[in-house]
Amino acid sequence: MSSSRQIRSSSLQETLAQGSGQTRRAFLGTAVVAGVVGSGSLLEGSHAADDGRDGPRVPGVDRPVKTFVPGTPLGPDQMRISFLGTSFLPRIAQECNSVYVELGNGDDFVFDFGSGVSAKYVAMGVPPSRMTRVFLTHLHADHMSDLTTLYCFGPSQDRKTPLYVYGPSGDTAAEGTRVFCRNLKKLTRWHREGFSFLPTGLKVGGDGYDLIATELPYMETGVAYHRRGVTITHFPAIHDRDGSISYKLEWNGLSMVFSGDTKPNDYMLRHGRGVDVLIHEMVVPVDVWAAKNSGLTPEDDGWDQAVAVAQEVQDSSHTPEPALGYILGKTRPRLGIATHFQVNDDTVGPALDAVRTWYQGEFAFAIDGFVVTLSKTDMELAMTHFDDFSWYPKPKLYPPKLLADPKYDGPYAQLNDRLLAHAIPKDVYEPPPTA
Ligand SMILES: [Zn+2]
Ligand SMILES: [Zn+2]
Repeated sequence: MSSSRQIRSSSLQETLAQGSGQTRRAFLGTAVVAGVVGSGSLLEGSHAADDGRDGPRVPGVDRPVKTFVPGTPLGPDQMRISFLGTSFLPRIAQECNSVYVELGNGDDFVFDFGSGVSAKYVAMGVPPSRMTRVFLTHLHADHMSDLTTLYCFGPSQDRKTPLYVYGPSGDTAAEGTRVFCRNLKKLTRWHREGFSFLPTGLKVGGDGYDLIATELPYMETGVAYHRRGVTITHFPAIHDRDGSISYKLEWNGLSMVFSGDTKPNDYMLRHGRGVDVLIHEMVVPVDVWAAKNSGLTPEDDGWDQAVAVAQEVQDSSHTPEPALGYILGKTRPRLGIATHFQVNDDTVGPALDAVRTWYQGEFAFAIDGFVVTLSKTDMELAMTHFDDFSWYPKPKLYPPKLLADPKYDGPYAQLNDRLLAHAIPKDVYEPPPTA
């Protein structure tokens, strides 16, 4: 694939015309979906190509995709994986990274929590009380930025228990997940105190503003979590700076791996082998990255510099398209998923060609709202029908006698009398009652 062909902005017809190992039908599907992503709607069957398929599309997927309705119950033997952030740069259809995993035993787990994903969790109908365990792959902002929102607003909603954050160690105590959490708590003091006129915790079971970090040694393979039949293993990733890890979750004979950010590595070949769902980062070729990120073309001043920077970022940190194909070809999951990858009508086709060099199994490009529901025998793929104007979902209710008393005595306790003297009384602006 020549670089000049990849970096120009191709039209849908050009994308379709590119050589590809796929069937026409599959390629049509991916190209059209990528185009529809750009126009903001993935759900309209009328936008689909004339290939006899109706309904929503997910790039790379060559089978019917259902519409996922938030709140759909999960069967006791099922695992559900929802993608609520799938990019390294914030974009409307792909916020920064987060994967939400629900299990048929009622447990749920959050992997990474990058900028912008809070809105997607709200639209997915996930209340803060179901987001108590967050597993961070590393401390880049596109994987942890929205923790501020999750941590700060959980206790004023329905999470009255501590937030547990698991994540990698650093080379020294000055880095890593423990010091990150300690400082997050410190920097959000004004918010925490401000909301503490409400009950934020339970008499027994801790407080919603407790932030409990579990640091996992980044160079080791080990068990991060083991409870109620769920095992989450962490293993090393190679990314940018010491202190990145990947995770594998196993329950009820089902398994999924989430790479976080990493260069292709043989830890992944070992831990990813034969898993049901392998979710792995992937990046576009360096010249595409340079062009998209900078707006430069090969004729412009600064082009060589932009390519050199992209090359350095990729070399230190990420997985090129053919490398993901190689990993999937070696590990052979039931479903391979590329994430952290910017879906466009001119990125999907070449990437799929590169992956298919090594891997012929089932594959998808993750976009926000993509949902995989699996059991040992079945796997269903769906796209979420998000309400763009959603509110928080129905909260978990606690009997008042279980709630701890608030720290402050009512909504005015933290405002001084000199300020309050300037507040306009209600009876000034509220219309008089009609007879
Ligand atoms: Zn990232
Ligand atoms: Zn990163």
